[in-house]
Amino acid sequence: MINKQRISRRPKNEVPDLELSFEFFPPKSDKAEERFWQALKKLAPLEPDFVSVTYGAGGSTRERTLNMVQKITTQTGIKAAAHLTCVDASRHEVDEVVRGYQRAGINRIVALRGDPSTGIGEAFVAHQDGYNNAAELVAGIKEIGDFDISVAAYPEKHPESTDWNADIDNLKRKIDAGANRAITQMFFDNDHYWRFMERVEKAQINVPIVPGIQPIHNFTQISNFAKRCGASIPAWLLERFEGLEDDPETHALVAAAVAAEQVIELEDNGVTQFHFYTMNRSSLILALARFLGRKSR
Ligand code: FAD
Repeated sequence: MINKQRISRRPKNEVPDLELSFEFFPPKSDKAEERFWQALKKLAPLEPDFVSVTYGAGGSTRERTLNMVQKITTQTGIKAAAHLTCVDASRHEVDEVVRGYQRAGINRIVALRGDPSTGIGEAFVAHQDGYNNAAELVAGIKEIGDFDISVAAYPEKHPESTDWNADIDNLKRKIDAGANRAITQMFFDNDHYWRFMERVEKAQINVPIVPGIQPIHNFTQISNFAKRCGASIPAWLLERFEGLEDDPETHALVAAAVAAEQVIELEDNGVTQFHFYTMNRSSLILALARFLGRKSR
């Protein structure tokens, strides 16, 4: 049972021992790549445990993901993880990508099934020679090499899971296949995370379940995306951002306050690892790290 009693906050001068990771997506243009590097350069002094680079639907960013992860490793020395999905690809094709990562010296993978190319929410049909799900993918990666593997977890249940038992069984299969940790889908009400952690403990899943924190850079965009992937938007959150579409300054302040409230409550209750969805931007993440007592070193 998770002890969710609010414990006294750490003294403000005490620096907690936290592990941070930052998720980026591979930029599509030279200009976007410039912004990517600017953001990474600003976030690097926070000494993240690792940064990760997403993989486009159906392998659409295969080369770009590999390039960015390689560049991050060689140019910054930060540990980088490459995301990998198995949707719309044969086992052979996926295994070749894994071997490519291995040849490039990348030993961290975020292993995912991916969403159907027809769109999130459509029925998933595995490639006839492909991995059927993320658990099979994890097992396949482990056969190729001793990678550090992260998988996805869903505090509000994956939309395709028939019920909570099916969802938690699936997470357990991924961990049993060799995953080292799970990173959660975004969530905005911490109670979803605490209830999820109770289920995880009951199932004796003993790896870190790192909360995925999505700062709200653009409420309309993030709430549309959240709904599509099964993350709910609480009414109080909607109210906080209502009417701020044309007021970017207030929007940014509210976004920082909302995310700070979320991470501080998690930290107060014992969470020591955080994964931030950066959207290739740095300022909100820099502010949140400060709230958590982590300054650029
Ligand atoms: P799985 O763990 O395979 O589960 C998918 C569904 O299938 C679940 O409902 C599960 O219960 C069910 N299931 C699995 N196995 C079985 C079985 N044997 N029998 C019955 N049901 C089963 N997407 C991208 O395209 N690129 C990315 O880079 C990316 N990064 C992500 C990073 C994080 C941290 C997260 C949380 C998600 C990310 N996604 C990404 C989205 C992810 O691909 C989708 O959420 C996808 O719908 C599910 O992927 P999964 O790995 O969780 O799948």
